[in-house]
Amino acid sequence: MESRRLLEESAHYLMHTYNRFPIILRKGRGMKVWGADGKEYLDFVGGIAVNCLGHCHPKVVIAVQKQVQRLIHVSNYYHIEPQIKLAKILVENSFADKVFFCNSGAEANEAAIKLARRYCREVLGQNRFEVITAINSFHGRTFAALTATGQEKFHKGFEPLVPGFNYVPFNDIDALEAAITKHTCAILLEPIQGEGGVKIPDPDYLRDVRKLCDKHGILLIFDEVQTGIGRTGTLFAYEHFSVTPDIMTLAKGLGGGLPIGAMLATDKVAAGFEPGSHASTFGGNPLVCAAAATTLDVLLEDGFILDQCRRMGKHIRLKLEELKKEFPSIISEVRNMGLLVGMELTREGASTVKACMERGVLINCTAGNVLRFMPPLIVTEKEIDHLADILGQIFDHRA
Ligand SMILES: *Cc1c(COP(=O)(O)O)cnc(C)c1O
Repeated sequence: MESRRLLEESAHYLMHTYNRFPIILRKGRGMKVWGADGKEYLDFVGGIAVNCLGHCHPKVVIAVQKQVQRLIHVSNYYHIEPQIKLAKILVENSFADKVFFCNSGAEANEAAIKLARRYCREVLGQNRFEVITAINSFHGRTFAALTATGQEKFHKGFEPLVPGFNYVPFNDIDALEAAITKHTCAILLEPIQGEGGVKIPDPDYLRDVRKLCDKHGILLIFDEVQTGIGRTGTLFAYEHFSVTPDIMTLAKGLGGGLPIGAMLATDKVAAGFEPGSHASTFGGNPLVCAAAATTLDVLLEDGFILDQCRRMGKHIRLKLEELKKEFPSIISEVRNMGLLVGMELTREGASTVKACMERGVLINCTAGNVLRFMPPLIVTEKEIDHLADILGQIFDHRA
């Protein structure tokens, strides 16, 4: 059949960097996607926290259609209208004063690390270059972002890595203080560890990190590639913790599905870059910026979607806690902030992901045993109830 031929060609022509599920997704609308064979799925993966407004949101589709006819790409040698519009929205709705655009989360982190080092050397005139990151963090796959990622399994076989990185346990302020040296230039953290298993720090941790940074004159970088763009119920996760970073990175949800990354900073720190310091050919291209500006416009329009995200975050928590009561030997913990949701199992999660898919629900598993749910922020109570029913059926079968 057609699907079988496509799966064969996929294995034949594509480099084997992903262990893909044997389905081909062809169409999506809102919370739903459809396979090439016509099978319908409820999507609780959301392109890994990318499709924040759901699949093919009509306003994003129209913005892309309009822009693609007008202008797709010009160089950053020239000023670009949708890029200016997007930067303005980001600055007006965050701690930041300036934005640099790139194409992915890893690239945004590369830019952040470069800016931090250059700021210390060129603006402060100090030989500080070390970046402290957390064990179990995830910051991307390019070399500096990979080195920043505090998980050996991602480093294996790629050594030598980039010099000047140091790792501490997440949520341990004493370990962080002990790791600071006269060469430390920045602390890079995810406010909530996503790939690491949806790990939420104690309420005071990030505030204490900020205090440490101020005491030692160190920059604080938040990687909000996964937690940003409404995922946790506020536009950025740092808003929950009453701290602001000096630099923040974004990607995933920012483009409403189109590939875009951004690195934001205060004016003071942004002074570390000057013309020629950093660049990206595609970064902030008219098409992706038009999609991102519309995504943010829709998200911020009347606060309705952020409110929905917070309410649905509470609802999914309630439903998953009910499951935990019913299956205490299978589920060890439920963690969430808004619609970044993790359910830790007492065993590997892969078979549950597969069983859900067979029953028409797409979910993800990270860190081996944490089922992760990152649905579009427009998910409804009914859809969450359906997910909980399916999970209940699956756990019932094996209990
Ligand atoms: C996904 C992710 C990245 C990497 O983003 P890419 O676009 O895949 O390079 C970096 N940081 C965090 C926190 C992420 O979740």
